Amino acid sequence: MNSVFITARQAGLISCHSCHLLCKNPKRSVIMRCPRCGARLHPRKPDSIARTWALVLAALVFYIPANVLPITTVISLGHAQSDTIMSGVIYFIQSGMWPIALVIFVASVFVPLVKLLILAFLLVSVQRKSGWRQKDRTKLYRITEIIGRWSMVDIFVVTILVALVNMGGLATIHAGPGALFFGAVVVTTMLAAMSFDPRLIWDREESIHG
Ligand SMILES: [Zn+2]
Repeated sequence: MNSVFITARQAGLISCHSCHLLCKNPKRSVIMRCPRCGARLHPRKPDSIARTWALVLAALVFYIPANVLPITTVISLGHAQSDTIMSGVIYFIQSGMWPIALVIFVASVFVPLVKLLILAFLLVSVQRKSGWRQKDRTKLYRITEIIGRWSMVDIFVVTILVALVNMGGLATIHAGPGALFFGAVVVTTMLAAMSFDPRLIWDREESIHG
């Protein structure tokens, strides 16, 4: 080994995911529980790569109807108008409200797609046991966790719009089927990021030096 550090797995130790207690790992085959809080212990998240792939692909499938189907339907004086996320963005640009358009575009179209592409890239690089810029790839994973918090923004926008317009009484507004698929994209992407184990990025070091 040419590095100065030793990993917990090499030392026969497992960190508890729930309370972060460092536990001894004598037998790898036995299902272990944390002696302090009782949570299941595992050196790596179980089936991390397969589960993350499944969730990433599901999210990509949901992403299509989320963007193609209407997210809101406004009924005003007997006239119904349905809007997808992109037609909403275009409407706000044409109305001169480009900051709102930018927020919706970034939060609803750009962020979910970037997050899914980053996760797919990390999965491919881990499967290929790549040693390429591991530190940067770990940072990339952290970015997906940070930006993920912003992808619920347009569900809030739809909710606020529905409340505001319905209060006015002249028009009624309904959330369209696109909103449901959009929610599914957000949830599956969140679960995908959670099921990915960033320690896999560094496991190559152990198999080479350890
Ligand atoms: Zn614990």
